[in-house]
Amino acid sequence: MLTSTQELIDSTYEKSLEFSKTNPYPSHSQRVSTLKELKKLILKNDDLLKEALLKDLGKTDYEAYVSEIMFIIKEIDISLKYLKKWMKPRRVKTPLLFLPASSKRAPIPLGLVLIIGPWNYPFNLLAAPLIGSIAAGNTTIIKSSELAPHMSKVVAKIVHELNSPFVQVIEGGVSETTQLLKKKFDHIFFTGSTRVGQIIMEAASKHLTPCTLELGGKSPTIVWGEQDLEIVASRIIWGKLINCGQTCIAPDYIIVQDSLKAKLIEKLKKKITDFYSSTPLESPDYGKIINERNFTRLTAFLNKDEIIFGGETNKEKLKISPTLLESKLDSPIMQSEIFGPILPIITIKELHEIDKIIAHNPDPLTVYLFTRQESLVDYIQQNIKSGSLCVNDTIIQITNSHLPFGGIGNSGTGSYHGTHSFDNFSHFKSVIKRKQMLDLTLRYPPYKNKLKPTLKLLKWFGH
Ligand code: NAD
Repeated sequence: MLTSTQELIDSTYEKSLEFSKTNPYPSHSQRVSTLKELKKLILKNDDLLKEALLKDLGKTDYEAYVSEIMFIIKEIDISLKYLKKWMKPRRVKTPLLFLPASSKRAPIPLGLVLIIGPWNYPFNLLAAPLIGSIAAGNTTIIKSSELAPHMSKVVAKIVHELNSPFVQVIEGGVSETTQLLKKKFDHIFFTGSTRVGQIIMEAASKHLTPCTLELGGKSPTIVWGEQDLEIVASRIIWGKLINCGQTCIAPDYIIVQDSLKAKLIEKLKKKITDFYSSTPLESPDYGKIINERNFTRLTAFLNKDEIIFGGETNKEKLKISPTLLESKLDSPIMQSEIFGPILPIITIKELHEIDKIIAHNPDPLTVYLFTRQESLVDYIQQNIKSGSLCVNDTIIQITNSHLPFGGIGNSGTGSYHGTHSFDNFSHFKSVIKRKQMLDLTLRYPPYKNKLKPTLKLLKWFGH
């Protein structure tokens, strides 16, 4: 009988470690059957997942399905379709000198993987990396977020029903994660804040454990040049306000050309009202802030001098209405990631001002650019560091499983989704295979008089 969380963590870890060691290379059919069973259980628990998302984050059925469940089902389907191909070794060239021989990069599982999830997409951001880890043949322990407690329970239920030695779950917060981090894993996949990312990497360094870090940042949204501001405003407001702004790749702030500013603000206001009515705090389609700590942090940004729209709050329901601010680079809201439904707008006259504004904060996860100028697209793509670039839309880059999703610098290390998840959770073993024939004796001692002919031979055969 287990008596404490520590004992539960110890026994889960030992069991998983033992299993990963005795099953270093699960077969294609083992991986497929785990993924198929997982898909079945997700569909079976569909209603519980939606209910948990409503309770934890106020997400509507539509948003819960589109931004969490549907994406996960698609990731499983892609893995099932392509797994055989992904598992095949990838051939590379072999220098003529070694022929007859062959060379390849053979994907092998990493072993025991720890996945730590955040609260904002508490199902998607645990399940998506888990699918990659299962597909790549690893044994995985997942740690859900304590700040989305209803979802944490449903995830635990699904994992228990899955009843697979390939997947275990630990529920809990800082203390449980700290205990887990003392143990040696073969890989840690963390999604969360940059601050905690540093804690994870420091703990991992004790065991030299490689990490994938999916972190946050301040993603700018640039609006420059004549264009259809109706569409621009729709796409910005949609991307900003899904999940009430609590999306790692939400447009954090707008940089707008001064000649477009008045019209853009008018359109942004209109879109907020079109989407969420003139009383957004009552709208069933508008979510809530996760907890009081974040509510208090966000309301501190509601400086009356800067508010140009919105600014209403309801502490009891943890709601903040969609809010537009006219801000400056030194405004408090421009000093860190917002992660809520407040959208500061900064006006510029010259294009070159963009560089300084973005460089004011560490490298962002994403840059959004609304423009018709191809030369500006090229400039931003080549000169502004960010995990991704999305031109003339928001958020959609994360939904394309063919694109790797990840940050750069402070916004993260490594990437995943689709085939990139499989690669992220695999080690590509370099394998070179020769035949026991044509043994050139020039490489063996004694070396007297062998250097010149060896160099000649190498020149002849090339690389
Ligand atoms: P967080 O860093 O506070 O928590 C993430 C996880 O770390 C949770 O499971 C939590 O239990 C654990 N944790 C928290 N403090 C810890 C500590 N001191 N030691 C060990 N573990 C600890 O992040 P969050 O508040 O859940 O999520 C919000 C942040 O995550 C935002 O910055 C957002 O941008 C980022 N995020 C990034 C992505 C991405 O894909 N890049 C996705 C979602 C969220």
